[in-house]
Amino acid sequence: MHLLVIGSSAAGVAAVETLRRLGGRDHRITVVTAEPVPAYSRCLLPDLLAGRKTEAAIGLRPPDFYRRLGVELLAGVAAVALRPQEKRVVLADGRELAYDRLLVATGAGPVLPEIPGVGVQGVFTLRTLDDARRLLAAMPGVSRAVVAGGGLVGLKAALALKQAGLEKVTVVVTSPRLLTRQLDDRAAAMVERELAGRGIDFIYNARVSAFLPGPAGNLAAVLLEDGRELPCGLAVVAKGVRPNAALVAEAGGRVGRGILVDEYLCTSLPDVYAAGDCIQVTDRLTGEKVNSALWTLAFEQGRLAATNMLGLRRPYPAPLTRLNSARFGAVDVVSVGRLEGEEVLAEYDALQRTYRRLVFHGHRLAGFILAGRVEGAGIYTALVKSGRPAWGYRHQLLQGRVGSVF
Ligand SMILES: Cc1cc2nc3c(=O)[nH]c(=O)nc-3n(C[C@H](O)[C@H](O)[C@H](O)COP(=O)(O)OP(=O)(O)OC[C@H]3O[C@@H](n4cnc5c(N)ncnc54)[C@H](O)[C@@H]3O)c2cc1C
Repeated sequence: MHLLVIGSSAAGVAAVETLRRLGGRDHRITVVTAEPVPAYSRCLLPDLLAGRKTEAAIGLRPPDFYRRLGVELLAGVAAVALRPQEKRVVLADGRELAYDRLLVATGAGPVLPEIPGVGVQGVFTLRTLDDARRLLAAMPGVSRAVVAGGGLVGLKAALALKQAGLEKVTVVVTSPRLLTRQLDDRAAAMVERELAGRGIDFIYNARVSAFLPGPAGNLAAVLLEDGRELPCGLAVVAKGVRPNAALVAEAGGRVGRGILVDEYLCTSLPDVYAAGDCIQVTDRLTGEKVNSALWTLAFEQGRLAATNMLGLRRPYPAPLTRLNSARFGAVDVVSVGRLEGEEVLAEYDALQRTYRRLVFHGHRLAGFILAGRVEGAGIYTALVKSGRPAWGYRHQLLQGRVGSVF
């Protein structure tokens, strides 16, 4: 069989490893990726920006990874069309590849709002290594930056820019606080305090209305809807991501909040599978249909899609889609599952700068937030995932005495 994988990141790499591990050397495998670089960890791009890691250190696998697995790699060329009836994929350079089974692992791309001046030199997104390289190249001589977006990527970018030595970094947030999808008021305030202590400014309830170029055409300022102008030499737009689903959609495949797949990660097109940020998943706790947007989920889906491509039927269980863990300066945060529920217990220890919020549905822990000290997060997560009754342990969980729970 010829197994074709489009995408060489979390889902694509996990799939290739699984195809070889379970399928041996029997099959021909080809990987196509638009990016002309070896696979890397997107999650570590802020570390590259901050100067804490080198490009080599964010590599996902050794440079000879595909060669050692006997996989043909076509890097730096995008797949532009999928012809499911002919079982062929067309590449941007005109080549056509026939396949027996195909995995679409094309991930997601940053949302670029239609704001005047968004194309001005000096306005960036942070999704790819190329984005990070261009940002790094733009930094010398720039002292002020604006980040549009108070979500995970926006805050990581802001902190990285500050750590890279920029004098003034301002985050413009549409909402009244940070990380509205991940945290509650208290935990968000802890993150804000930490980042403010590191010299980052925040403007809430504000929207960017234009990126203003200077006389040379480069970014000179960000204009807010309320008329304020923030002088800056570079800006990062971090307003979320959109699944790269066009290949499947244009081929007639079903797409919702991402490519629609069945429980075997097969799309509505025959012998076409999909995994990672490009697909829609159903949240295990809420039943909500959302786009998959986590590295760990992409990896797991890549593995399972590959297993199914080989004909070994393994269903993909509905995942927990809210499962975030991040460090902002000295403040760790972990947020899993529901933010609200029938019973909410919370405890803040101002001295220890530690916060725990537990959300119960009946006797089960349906979600939690840990901020400050996050030891035992794995145990809280296991309780959410398993649905095991946890109400009886609520006091221990609230005080972080999780050793006694298991
Ligand atoms: C700055 C940053 C920080 C993050 N931090 C975290 C974190 O802490 N935790 C977490 O869980 N997640 C984090 N994420 C999200 C995480 O990186 C993604 O969930 C993960 O990368 C998804 O992997 P993927 O394989 O589905 O797709 P992607 O990583 O998006 O890769 C897509 C692949 O497809 C290729 N491709 C796309 N279109 C085509 C085409 N038409 N033809 C050929 N190739 C194509 C690309 O070149 C790439 O190889 C972060 C993301 C960013 C940007």
